[in-house]
Amino acid sequence: MVKAVVGANWGDEGKGKITDMLAKESDIIIRFQGGANAGHTIVNNYGKFALHTLPSGVFYSHTTNIIGNGVALNIPILIEEIRSVTGRGVPAPRILVSDRAQIVMPYHILLDQYEEERLGGRSFGSTKSGIAPFYSDKYAKIGFQVSELFDEQLLRKKVADVCEIKNVLFAHLYRKPLIDAAELLTVLHEYRDMIAPYVCDVSAYLDKAVREGKNILLEGQLGTLKDPDHGIYPMVTSSSTLAAYGAIGAGIAPYEIRQVITVCKAYSSAVGAGAFVSEIFGEQADELRRRGGDGGEFGATTGRPRRMGWFDCVASRYGCRLQGTTDVAFTVLDVLGYLDEIPVCVGYEIDGEVTTEFPVTTRLEHARPVLQSLPGWKTDIRGIRNYEELPENCRRYVEFIEAQIGYPITMVSNGPGREDIIYRTSTLA
Ligand code: GDP
Repeated sequence: MVKAVVGANWGDEGKGKITDMLAKESDIIIRFQGGANAGHTIVNNYGKFALHTLPSGVFYSHTTNIIGNGVALNIPILIEEIRSVTGRGVPAPRILVSDRAQIVMPYHILLDQYEEERLGGRSFGSTKSGIAPFYSDKYAKIGFQVSELFDEQLLRKKVADVCEIKNVLFAHLYRKPLIDAAELLTVLHEYRDMIAPYVCDVSAYLDKAVREGKNILLEGQLGTLKDPDHGIYPMVTSSSTLAAYGAIGAGIAPYEIRQVITVCKAYSSAVGAGAFVSEIFGEQADELRRRGGDGGEFGATTGRPRRMGWFDCVASRYGCRLQGTTDVAFTVLDVLGYLDEIPVCVGYEIDGEVTTEFPVTTRLEHARPVLQSLPGWKTDIRGIRNYEELPENCRRYVEFIEAQIGYPITMVSNGPGREDIIYRTSTLA
């Protein structure tokens, strides 16, 4: 049985917590896209961790954790992350890396930095992890697959060819020091030795696992609105954030993905630039940011303050639809317990007309939120385990949002820990 955990919105919905929780019943957890540019925050009995590359199953010794072919693999970051978890008492996790995964090269990171510098104020707010240059090269067919590290002749030739291309940009567009092919080759030899113990034909491994009936969890990064096709292009990430891409980025049959758990946060947050219709500002935003998540809404990778907003039904319904949602995990509901009234964005007004369909980016830039306020519950709901024990206004909030988005909320998260979860039966027909 294959399940996917993905985000409905801009990322930071709490996927790490939900994945960590579901990993308990999983045999295999797979990262299938993205790179070390975003992070999941996980709180468990070993402490609080920000994972960037490792799948969230690494805290359970019964799991196999896989970096799929779709990931932008930063080898030194992966190795460092393995060290950082084992250094804090977590037993050495079982990790496999696809022989078809491609490698984030040192020049990808430089290119990302140089391009942001060149763009100045027009930049995309990249995390400068080399992700966009990495995926550009992958599709330009000048990327390096893990397997290629082990073919010395091919590696030497490719390094020479790539340096020639990159050095034109370095010299003439960015006016920066050139890359030295011999030095790069030495770095790649180091990468080869670091990654060698983990390399695996992942899709063959997963084919066998599926046939044996293993429980497999696909772990998404970011959310629908950051998808390069269906998101708020160009303020998107460079690989697909959709559950459907799990089949490609892991190398399994699409029809094997039986459950798509889409994570939605009880309010909105976003990082980086781009339209964010239900955004709030000033003291109202500061207070939600301060109280949000587990210790405030600040980027897990960058520490940047997140942009804050009310729950957006338009974006979330669209986000759930594109994921092919079977279940919604509704997270961080406990944080809203301080509000007298909770505004929710139920429509977008665009050029004088109200719509509930999420528009293309050009129209999105003109959208204003149509808000509806629901009564708050003004109590701390942490520790509650049964849905019926939640305050009535809190249940009304959940049910209102479920009706608006049209996908069943089967899990409600009311705290950052593994055990802070309430299962419920959806009231949707
Ligand atoms: P991800 O990238 O989707 O995993 O999201 P983040 O790592 O940004 O997670 C959101 C933050 O919220 C993390 O600090 C989590 O520990 C925290 N979190 C997750 N679920 C809950 C919840 O139900 N309540 C509270 N208060 N915090 C939560």
